Amino acid sequence: MKYTLPALPYPEHALEPVISRETIQIHYGKHAQTYLNNLNDMIAGTEYEDMSLEDTIRSSAGSLFNNAAQTWNHIFYFNTFSPDARIVPQGSLAHAIVRHWETFENFQEVFVQTGKSLFGSGWVWLCSDDAGHLGIRAESNAGNPLIEGLTPLLAFDVWEHAYYIDYRNRRDNHLQQLWSIVDWRVVESRYKF
Ligand code: MN
Repeated sequence: MKYTLPALPYPEHALEPVISRETIQIHYGKHAQTYLNNLNDMIAGTEYEDMSLEDTIRSSAGSLFNNAAQTWNHIFYFNTFSPDARIVPQGSLAHAIVRHWETFENFQEVFVQTGKSLFGSGWVWLCSDDAGHLGIRAESNAGNPLIEGLTPLLAFDVWEHAYYIDYRNRRDNHLQQLWSIVDWRVVESRYKF
C-alpha cells in the first residue's frame, strides 16, 4: 500500500460546531479513506506506484484520476483548518487578494457565491498562477487546478457529504461558517510570492 491517510493536526471534535466530530469521522474517516483505498488498489503493480500523487493526478483520467484527486483534495482541505486559526490573511497573499477583489470580505463573498452556485458536487478553489496572480475556480466532482498548471491555495468541498450531517441542505451557510476555521497561516505557506 503506497498511500496512507495522514492523521489530522487536531482532535476529531476540535472544529465543532463548524464541522462536527461525526462529519470528521464520516468525511475524513470514511469518504477520504475510501478514495485512498481505491487509489491504492488501482495503482498496485502499475507505473503509478513509482509516481508522486501530483503526477498521478496530472497524468491520469477516469476512475484513477477521480480517486487520486479526491485523495489529494481531502488531505489538502482538512489540513487548512485549525481550532485556533488565524482567520485573516497577512503579507503578500493579503495584498494579492486586495489587489484582485478590493477587500478580503469581498473575496470571501465571491468565493462562497462560487461554491453556492456550483451545480452538483465539486470544489471551489483559490489558486495562483506562476506569476502570483490569484483566481477563484469552481471544479466539478474531483476537479483540481493542478492539472492546469495552477497552484492550489485553498479549497472548500461542496459535495453534500461535506455538510449534510451538520447543515442539511444549507450549503451556503456551511461555506460561510468555514471562514472561522480557515487558518491563513497554512494558506499563506502555499503561496510562494
Ligand atoms: Mn469530500
